[in-house]
Amino acid sequence: MELLERRIRESGVVKPGQVLKVDSFLNHQMDVALFREMARAWGREFADRPVNKVMTIEASGIGLAAIVGDELGLPVVFAKKAQSINLDGSVHTAQITSYTHKRDYDVIVSKRYIGPDDHVLIIDDFLANGCAMEGLIAICQQAGATIEGIGIAIEKGFQQGGALLRERGFKVCSLAIVESMDHETGRIEFR
Ligand code: 5GP
Repeated sequence: MELLERRIRESGVVKPGQVLKVDSFLNHQMDVALFREMARAWGREFADRPVNKVMTIEASGIGLAAIVGDELGLPVVFAKKAQSINLDGSVHTAQITSYTHKRDYDVIVSKRYIGPDDHVLIIDDFLANGCAMEGLIAICQQAGATIEGIGIAIEKGFQQGGALLRERGFKVCSLAIVESMDHETGRIEFR
């Protein structure tokens, strides 16, 4: 998506460790008009899929997913970082390794908000190694829900997540795919 790529070039900062900082418009301060255009792009891409729910993960996917839900007229559910373990069996759970924070955490979704009748469009800000996405997929699978597609704002194409998901047959629509980026020069190449 040209608009998003341009914004990444203008405002993105390449940090050491292959981390792209886009918190001026995506995951701290949010450019909601840009989110609206992104939501429309995903809407067109997944128009042929019988989606009835949008799903994401706390925290930085929530803003994007909310606009997607509004655009498509669908409910939005986000996986919450769990404070306590699943004592009463009322939630689906998965463990995720955080790329940016380098630690493991559990996420939960209540069984009330995802089940076998759901056809889910998963939305997230970044796709790197795919750990966050694997967690969301595991939760959908536990719930017996169907994953209709995965919408990603920025895929880091030089990491394995996108390739692994596509190999497994998921329809992944990344609006910008970074082929390479360089911390020294600040240069960012898109696929
Ligand atoms: P993965 O689980 O695919 O390895 O990483 C995805 C998650 O890590 C995203 O939800 C995002 O929050 C975070 N992440 C991964 N790479 C980057 C990055 O380059 N920049 C930022 N801001 N977040 C990232």
